[in-house]
Amino acid sequence: MSRHGTQAVRVGAQLIGGGAQISVQSMTTTDTCDVRATVAQIAALADAGCDLVRLAVPDAQAAAALPEIVRVAPVPLVADIHFDYRLALAALDAGIAKLRINPGNIGAADRVRAVAQAAQARGVPIRVGVNAGSLQRELLARVEAGELSMGAAMAESALAQARLLEDAGCTAIVLSVKAAHVPATIEAYTLLAERCAYPLHIGVTEAGTRQGGVIKSAIGIGALLARGIGDTLRVSLTADPLEEVRVGRRILQALELRPYGPDIISCPTCGRAQVDVIAIAEELERRVAEDPALRQMVCTVAVMGCVVNGPGEGFAGGADAGMLFCKGEPIGNVAAGDAVARLLDELRRMHDGHVTAVS
Ligand code: SF4
Repeated sequence: MSRHGTQAVRVGAQLIGGGAQISVQSMTTTDTCDVRATVAQIAALADAGCDLVRLAVPDAQAAAALPEIVRVAPVPLVADIHFDYRLALAALDAGIAKLRINPGNIGAADRVRAVAQAAQARGVPIRVGVNAGSLQRELLARVEAGELSMGAAMAESALAQARLLEDAGCTAIVLSVKAAHVPATIEAYTLLAERCAYPLHIGVTEAGTRQGGVIKSAIGIGALLARGIGDTLRVSLTADPLEEVRVGRRILQALELRPYGPDIISCPTCGRAQVDVIAIAEELERRVAEDPALRQMVCTVAVMGCVVNGPGEGFAGGADAGMLFCKGEPIGNVAAGDAVARLLDELRRMHDGHVTAVS
């Protein structure tokens, strides 16, 4: 899949854009002032495969907590700043690897310039995060008058705000243009990809709860990635942020852009099913997601309700006992209740033998 060319920016030890691996981001939900809880959540997110973690920095107390959090965090951190430019300066002093601001709400040009220059001096990139819900009044009026689509207005806003930063001497810029409306989000990013080479942070904002949000995110982010657009992503869910990471990684896995452990395929079940396929497949998926070693594997594992479509690698239910398959051949009987444990054993054996199985 060819990717839209963008310039690279450095975020700590990672790169965003310029053909670098597409990174997955999420955001802590803890009170940033609670250093212990925040550090624990960052570690859990990193363990689930999150490459960059963003934290809300709403006030001076939160900014004061940053040095200690930055010191122990296993991944680069992004400070999310609104309204008060002094918080952005404090976050830079704390050693944050990236800033997310909206120059439109940081205030006067001299304040934007102060943040841009301080970030540039430290080699810290700034993401201009435009949201449909906080579009400037003039642009919103043009949208309401039918002169501009929401997607075009968001792209316009992001480019204008990037120019503000560039005029202030900032060269490491990332853009995002998120809406809760999937078509507007796709349009905005597509326009940006046509009009600039800034790396793009993609996502559908306020996407919703676990099921609805996953659908919107997979469609919005997936459509963009399939067109080669997007250098880093965040899935926004009203759910545990670990879910955001797992969903983001699975979107990349589905498009074969990044591996995220064995691809667990499973049948939809029907009247022929002789085991509880849903329970087995869900437990297997959860156990694999929790195991960093297994998440390194690139293979396909099937969970099927019966032997009608014998799997390459995996388990198929049977009347008395199910059957394990390897390379399309049956390798032994296993009771449904032991299926997950046996499949995990087989995966670990393949992993330890450095076998890469692709069925
Ligand atoms: S694998 Fe068997 S149980 Fe599953 S959908 Fe196909 S026929 Fe039905």
